[in-house]
Amino acid sequence: MALSNLREYVRPDGLDMALSLVKEKGRSARVIGGGIDLVRSSSPDIETLVDLSQLSLSYVRQTDKGIAIGATTTLTEIVEAPVLNNYLQGVVVEMLRQVGAPSLRNLASMGGTLASAHPWSDVITLFVALGAQVTLYNGVTRMVPLSDLYASRALLSPAIITEALLPAYAHGTAAAFMKFSRTKFDIAILNCACLISTQNGDCESVRLTAGGTPQLAALLPEVAEVLLGRKLSQTSIGQAAEMARETTLVRNDLRASGNYRRELVYAGVKRCLTCVSTHLSGASQ
Ligand SMILES: Cc1cc2nc3c(=O)[nH]c(=O)nc-3n(C[C@H](O)[C@H](O)[C@H](O)COP(=O)(O)OP(=O)(O)OC[C@H]3O[C@@H](n4cnc5c(N)ncnc54)[C@H](O)[C@@H]3O)c2cc1C
Repeated sequence: MALSNLREYVRPDGLDMALSLVKEKGRSARVIGGGIDLVRSSSPDIETLVDLSQLSLSYVRQTDKGIAIGATTTLTEIVEAPVLNNYLQGVVVEMLRQVGAPSLRNLASMGGTLASAHPWSDVITLFVALGAQVTLYNGVTRMVPLSDLYASRALLSPAIITEALLPAYAHGTAAAFMKFSRTKFDIAILNCACLISTQNGDCESVRLTAGGTPQLAALLPEVAEVLLGRKLSQTSIGQAAEMARETTLVRNDLRASGNYRRELVYAGVKRCLTCVSTHLSGASQ
């Protein structure tokens, strides 16, 4: 039975109070965002839930560093934030519209989505490609690349995610996201994302990620290497997609075979790069 030993539901009105509860109670206390993952947890350890909703962490703001998203902001609030419509051709909104169903997005929070670290997460695959940063509070506030959070889970024990930052990018940068799933509301069999910055039409920096692979939001450096210093053309895009098929680690599970996923990586990378190429050529006209 889910949360069968739950005894306490606390809504602290300060971040220090929230952190001290988590520190003091150890594994028996969990921070709760939307609760989508937590309410399904059958862990007998959980006795206290620490709700962050009184901490004024629900916002999406344009700052000089980029777009800041507070940890308790729901995915629906993020989709509806006008500031994201023009951020990298609206890629974040496009991705979020493919996360579960509207009822799930009405509850799921930014912090819970990043902390739950599902290997097939659409949000994490795109945010790592975009070079997102995350702000953690463990008595001191520090900002780290989101990818570091998954390289070392120790960063979260104990710490509270307070914000995600999507960096600002100059003209000549475009991004794309692609998801393959069995139905519209299902989780991804495989997803991928890319962010490309160009100088005089040549790829100057390239970040590609794939999710639904054994590694969470795996970066694909060999694929990026194929594109660096080159223009996006049918030839370079085709070569990059071939490299993705050859080098991306994939696995068999109940949703799909590794061989099928390899073909999806090929198709996903090709579609992402074609989409970015279209965005960039539209921007230069
Ligand atoms: C039916 C279904 C379909 C789904 N479909 C998709 C999909 O298509 N694409 C996709 O990407 N995802 C999908 N998901 C995953 C879903 O998006 C996540 O479960 C959800 O975003 C978790 O957010 P939450 O706020 O509800 O987390 P919670 O359940 O509240 O918390 C999850 C974990 O994060 C911790 N946590 C919460 N907030 C913080 C914080 N601020 N700091 C530190 N730790 C924190 C909690 O302690 C807990 O361990 C699906 C899930 C379900 C159940």
